[in-house]
Amino acid sequence: KAKSKAGNVVMEYKNEMDRNLKQNLLISSHLTEAVKNKEIQVYFQPKINLKNRTVSSIEALARWNSPTLGFISPQDFMAVAEKTGLVRDIDLQVIELVLQWFQNRKKDSKKVIPVAVNISPEHFYHPRFIDQLSDLVKKYDADPTNIIIEITENMSLVDLPKARQIINELNAKGFSSSVDDFGMGYSSLNYLQELPISELKIDRNFTMKLHDSGTYAIVKAILQIADALNIETVAEGVETEEQARILKELGCNTGQGYLFDKPIPVEEFNRKFE
Ligand code: C2E
Ligand code: MG
Ligand code: MG
Ligand code: MG
Repeated sequence: KAKSKAGNVVMEYKNEMDRNLKQNLLISSHLTEAVKNKEIQVYFQPKINLKNRTVSSIEALARWNSPTLGFISPQDFMAVAEKTGLVRDIDLQVIELVLQWFQNRKKDSKKVIPVAVNISPEHFYHPRFIDQLSDLVKKYDADPTNIIIEITENMSLVDLPKARQIINELNAKGFSSSVDDFGMGYSSLNYLQELPISELKIDRNFTMKLHDSGTYAIVKAILQIADALNIETVAEGVETEEQARILKELGCNTGQGYLFDKPIPVEEFNRKFE
């Protein structure tokens, strides 16, 4: 009996692997076309000031609704994009959509809010990254101070001296940088003082477990360090009022999550936030 149970688990695991493999093959066979046809769209999710509940900035998140495959999550298509060298194209298309949004806001005499874009490690370390970014910003006559570059802690900061050089260069051009998914990677706290970043985003796994005394202590310490180093803090994945309250009490200025808003299409965002 026990043996057949274990056998079932192995079978399920294998089926799951087959499914993933098939799914990845399907994705990779359509993704190149999708990028060429500009099928990648962008959704906006606000980062909310926890004191007065206004929008501090926005995060732009890639979305792909494939005509043949339907809705594919960014985690799934970015994983494939990383293997097929399409990440940079996708990131750049997202940036271009954000720059078009800035342009439209200006045209409509509406307030421009800073927007954060996610940059994959491979893209962040690419020698053409800053040049291409700057060229696009020039093309749309945008203000770099409204653009925040989000890099995930986990992979992006493996080469600390190089990362520092890139962030310095971004700063010199007026962009700002944010460390995403903070706390879950293997990096040491030391890089917080080594890198001239302006924001860190506390990973959703911490926000989810704030009721746990260990997690609470870690978040409290992160916030104190960030404050001492003059780094803005954003908590990811805020889903309950209780979490928002604790974070505010601990001195976290900004929150992002379903409690406030899910990522929504840009047109919807425009309607909702004048
Ligand atoms: P991320 O940058 O850490 O983005 C946060 C993710 O958490 C988003 O997932 C967002 O929809 C989700 N989220 C926000 N609030 C909540 C909440 O309260 N609860 C829960 N459960 N989830 C919440 P999404 O949009 O599926 O994106 C996943 C990841 O894909 C992103 O994580 C980012 O690493 C990557 N990604 C998305 N767009 C891009 C892009 O344009 N370029 C690159 N390189 N990566 C991207
Ligand atoms: Mg992000
Ligand atoms: Mg994140
Ligand atoms: Mg995350």
